[in-house]
Amino acid sequence: MLTFPIKHEWLDLIERGIKKEEYRADTPYYESRLGPYLGQEIECALRNGYSATSPTLKVKVRVEKGTGNPDWGAEPGVTYFKLVILEMRRIEPETFIIKARRCKRCGGLLTSKQAVEDGYGHVCKMKEKAEQAAATPDPNQLTLFDVFESEE
Ligand SMILES: [Zn+2]
Repeated sequence: MLTFPIKHEWLDLIERGIKKEEYRADTPYYESRLGPYLGQEIECALRNGYSATSPTLKVKVRVEKGTGNPDWGAEPGVTYFKLVILEMRRIEPETFIIKARRCKRCGGLLTSKQAVEDGYGHVCKMKEKAEQAAATPDPNQLTLFDVFESEE
């Protein structure tokens, strides 16, 4: 499938259904890539960036040649290869960002939502609780329990 780099603002306007054509210069490079498809409908990808996680739209387009809309980046009177957008859908990147942190006890990598919130893995959390329960409470230290009780 052909993939074309595209500016973020154009990708955004296409995704919102406002920009209905994408233009490519009438150069030997694009002649070699798009020329064979002139008048045909093809599937291609429009990608803002060069990595696998860059925002990408998969589009069905009709390849035409002609002048374009200046509001959509075309210079008046200039002939372009025009990709007339017929259908589109967003491609979700294959990699994504998750929250992770190191366990405060063992240093292991934590990725579950609960563990990331706790700062401990499941096993370390139980060990930590058991140790806290076994430890003799410091009589001078105010506990959360005391605070809640005194408020009532
Ligand atoms: Zn741990």
